Amino acid sequence: LGTSIAFDPDRLNEILEAARGAARFGLMAANQGNFSVRDPETNLIAITPHDRPYDDMRPSDIVIVDLDGTKRRGDLDPSYDLPVHLTVYRRRPDVNAVIHTEPPFVNAFGAVGLGLEPVTTTGLKSANGDVPLMPFRTVRDEQFAEDMLAVMGDRFAVIWGSHGLLVVGRTIQQTLDRSLGIEFNAHVLAIARSLGTPRSLAYLDASMVMA
Ligand SMILES: [Zn+2]
Repeated sequence: LGTSIAFDPDRLNEILEAARGAARFGLMAANQGNFSVRDPETNLIAITPHDRPYDDMRPSDIVIVDLDGTKRRGDLDPSYDLPVHLTVYRRRPDVNAVIHTEPPFVNAFGAVGLGLEPVTTTGLKSANGDVPLMPFRTVRDEQFAEDMLAVMGDRFAVIWGSHGLLVVGRTIQQTLDRSLGIEFNAHVLAIARSLGTPRSLAYLDASMVMA
């Protein structure tokens, strides 16, 4: 323990910028949500602390843990969703950033037990297809995360029923952009359903589409 554990300070700042950006864009209320990155060279994980205001957060408030969850640096408790983040990193070597937010339009679909069809090119690109629904559970432990990953498949995101959204990516900025794109698609889809029958783009390969 102590300050000997190295984690690139620029990347800690990027976590704070992403969290503040998500709050500014209305992706979650109050101090909700959690944000993490993995250093692919050391496999150390940096994650936001539990229930702290993002505006006042400093880089030293970010908690550094091993891939097995052992705390390596930080005075605060890590986010309660740490077991979910760690399970994603252990199972998905291609993922180096995980963001959980609680966006209102995504949550509206989750609240009625629906996944999200991509009806915009941005939505398709952001999620790599549709965004499936992981049904609500009271406990979000490793088993929840394993089952959630099975539901998510090769998509970049999954809805947590009656709760929010989890998005993965290579960098925290990419993962925030995807989160915003998915909430944008949910907003458009909600409006489109009141106007007529939206056309899903789920049949398209996301990599073939210019967003
Ligand atoms: Zn949450």
